[in-house]
Amino acid sequence: MNKNCPFCAEPIREATFAENDHFFAAYNIAPILPGHSMIIPKKHYCGINELPEELLMEMIVFARMITHFLTEYYHSTGFDWSIQEGEDAGQSVEHLHWHIIPRRKHDLKTPGAWYSKLQNSENEPVIDSHARKKLTSEELQRITDELREAFMTV
Ligand SMILES: [Zn+2]
Repeated sequence: MNKNCPFCAEPIREATFAENDHFFAAYNIAPILPGHSMIIPKKHYCGINELPEELLMEMIVFARMITHFLTEYYHSTGFDWSIQEGEDAGQSVEHLHWHIIPRRKHDLKTPGAWYSKLQNSENEPVIDSHARKKLTSEELQRITDELREAFMTV
């Protein structure tokens, strides 16, 4: 628990639509594309190098399950995964977070365009990102509720 960390703070819980013992899946408040979500450990680990090995395995299994759910829900035909480890790699929020971005044909100008968009958002904490259009708290709540409900029926 780190009191200055946005992913340890209460608001991120409101965007949470799925969880297991050690991780939660939260919708991104400024999504690059519909379905853009993050897998975040409940405990404050700065990066993947700090994560105990058994949790690393649990994170991968959970990320794959959430990705499968999101690609079905958003009728996606692919997805991007990204982790930025360390400031030099573009990490801004020092709490491990794994981006999942559902994809489909022609959703961006070029298939690789998501990465620069992600970088823009990483330059500022995601939760306070001004780089991309932020959802209103009502929009975020509606999407989270819909996903939470859909996830429970999986
Ligand atoms: Zn944290």
